[in-house]
Amino acid sequence: MAIVVQKYGGTSVGDVNRMKRVADRVARTHRAGNQTVVVVSAMGDTTDELVGMAEKISDLPPGRELDMLLTAGERISMALLAMALHALEIPAKSFTGSQAGIITDGSHGRARIVDITPGRISGALDEGNVVIVAGFQGVSHDTKDVTTLGRGGSDTTAVALAAALGADVCEIYTDVDGVYTADPRIVPDARKLDRLTFEEMLEMAAQGARVLQVRSVEFGRNHGVPIHVRSSFSYQEGTWVVPEEDIMENAIISGVAHDTDDAKVTVQHVPDKPGVAADVFTALGEANVNIDMIVQNVSEDGTTDISFTMPHADVHRTRELLEGLAREVGARGVAIDDQVAKVSLVGAGMKTHPGIAAAMFKALSDAGVNIEMISTSTIRVSVVVAATDAERAVRAIHDAFDLSATPVEVS
Ligand code: ASP
Ligand code: MG
Repeated sequence: MAIVVQKYGGTSVGDVNRMKRVADRVARTHRAGNQTVVVVSAMGDTTDELVGMAEKISDLPPGRELDMLLTAGERISMALLAMALHALEIPAKSFTGSQAGIITDGSHGRARIVDITPGRISGALDEGNVVIVAGFQGVSHDTKDVTTLGRGGSDTTAVALAAALGADVCEIYTDVDGVYTADPRIVPDARKLDRLTFEEMLEMAAQGARVLQVRSVEFGRNHGVPIHVRSSFSYQEGTWVVPEEDIMENAIISGVAHDTDDAKVTVQHVPDKPGVAADVFTALGEANVNIDMIVQNVSEDGTTDISFTMPHADVHRTRELLEGLAREVGARGVAIDDQVAKVSLVGAGMKTHPGIAAAMFKALSDAGVNIEMISTSTIRVSVVVAATDAERAVRAIHDAFDLSATPVEVS
């Protein structure tokens, strides 16, 4: 018997009729003889609505209580789906994250899964049930309080459970057909990818492709769980995310991702001496800020500029910290530009194909887009550009690499 884990996102369970449609699909999987575990998100915009209510009551709701509130969204979905399955005469049982044995650390709002003890799930499966698990939540191993895994965390619940249960596949059902070469709202002729490596998907997700939470892809990679991203509104194959060795031939480029959620911060005229960068980034690390691209200029007259990108959302709370830090290290000041976007080209074939960065920069220059920062990994080239140039940049790069055409494959 195969074990299948399916995750349904908020749109897929957005109203009662959609919930019934999901039940039909789950019923098929169950009747086909699979042991079926279903992870659900909160219905539609429920999570946003709950956050909105909390913010109306308090500027800074206690993390423990906010998590208590938000986990209610997924609980509603799980119970309704279980009822919908019962109505189809399929035995089903729902479990909260805590009941399902999703053990996390204690950091509310961004907890990490540290262990999974799926005894109750295995028991319920062995009794012939479809098992439904509330996504996005767990329980802290030390405080025993309920935690959430960060927005989009149901993906991670699903892949982590698939890993713990040794599932054959983790299917992520969403409102798009799969992973595209670029956001189809910006590039109408973007193409659906049949398959991607975990590394490529990690880069795409980290650089703004919203279809999977980054951490879920890390779980998939670390435990070798194949992920199938597909639409809950059709029965077509979606996009498979698999280990590199399962792909016979790699396309050179898989896609262009973009992200408008980052701001560019420049600490100006920093004294160019050992220890300054360490001071700046240690302080930011301690404040729990996720830094991305870092660029230090060539120094002039003993000072240099250090620029980096960080989430918009954290700028407000770190502005004072940054300004204080600038004074401490003897820098002139801090400039923050939040009208920027990061545009990234991702492809496993880049490793063995020179000239990719050059072609990307040429495409940007032909489109009249100025590059403010550049960073690379072995399978990615990213640039920071003005936010107003972002869509043009994505289209120019997508065009230059002819990504709407079926790829030329290399072994
Ligand atoms: N409901 C949560 C959110 O909206 C978790 C999820 O959907 O994955 O972020
Ligand atoms: Mg999602």
